[in-house]
Amino acid sequence: MSATPVLVIHGGAGTISRAVFTPDKLLEYSQALRSVLLAGYSALLRGESALESAVRAVSAFEDCPLFNAGRGSVYTRQGTHEMDASLMDGASRAAGAVASVTNVKNPIQAARAVMEHSPHVLMVGQGAEAFLRERGIAFAPDEYFHTDFRLAQLKAVQAQAANQVSLDHDADPRQGPPAGTDKMAFSGGTGKMGTVGAVALDKKGRLAAATSTGGMTNKLPGRVGDSPIIGAGCYADDLTAISCTGTGEAFMRLCLARDLSLRMRYLGEDLEQAGQACLEALGELGGTGGFIALDRQGRAILPFNTEGMYRGLARSADDLQVAVHKENRALA
Ligand code: ASP
Repeated sequence: MSATPVLVIHGGAGTISRAVFTPDKLLEYSQALRSVLLAGYSALLRGESALESAVRAVSAFEDCPLFNAGRGSVYTRQGTHEMDASLMDGASRAAGAVASVTNVKNPIQAARAVMEHSPHVLMVGQGAEAFLRERGIAFAPDEYFHTDFRLAQLKAVQAQAANQVSLDHDADPRQGPPAGTDKMAFSGGTGKMGTVGAVALDKKGRLAAATSTGGMTNKLPGRVGDSPIIGAGCYADDLTAISCTGTGEAFMRLCLARDLSLRMRYLGEDLEQAGQACLEALGELGGTGGFIALDRQGRAILPFNTEGMYRGLARSADDLQVAVHKENRALA
């Protein structure tokens, strides 16, 4: 089978307050999304696999401090960073994931190492880190993961209530930043994106999905969300590939990513119908967020129930489509 390659990405869903989202910020984020698309899509054009493309796109997100994954990860209640990531290859159903890892520069590459070089699917904490060091996966010092606006978010959330947790994208912008903090960086405008992810279809018709996150601001150390859970925040098989962002606990309780695929398999729904049902189920459970998904014909959906979702889609190198808010053009 020879398919036109497709790559879809997200940089998190949430409030993304228009009040502070200036044209300059829109430009900055749009450029960042385009360079992520380019990193992943050029791999597809070279004939590389969907898995390789998804890893490249998510690695590019992780290297960019604007997004809550890798370098830009949010802070836990103790002022540390604990990151989660997962990926799945639709053709082989091979999967790998890491959770609660610290100082790992590119958690998605760590998830790939678990998939390719261990007999396991999910590894966590210190055991995972020891394995990753043996595999030669890159680590970075604490300073690498420090961003002023995320520290400001932590302080603001803690000032509201010490035990409240906040989605990166949903901290209350009315609270305002602590003195001396960039209002834009602090608020829903840029400081609130959640997880990042990519789904890809390669020339051979194979699908893959990858998801990576710093989780939720002020989360308890040890808390793990949906992102590293295969079938919740990430899934791929021969029918579909999906990556999620939003209130992780709701995605986990719904096993949302796997539900999308099973609706197609057992109910015969198409991607659009299955996506609509999954988004409704998310809302019914009080969850907020969205997801990106592809089917094997290359059809794409990017639904969300929040004000916006950083997102992008490429079907050719000349047409890298990106959008942030709801009213932006629908990508397809
Ligand atoms: N789903 C992520 C988590 O619960 C957070 C997000 O996507 O904003 O860890």
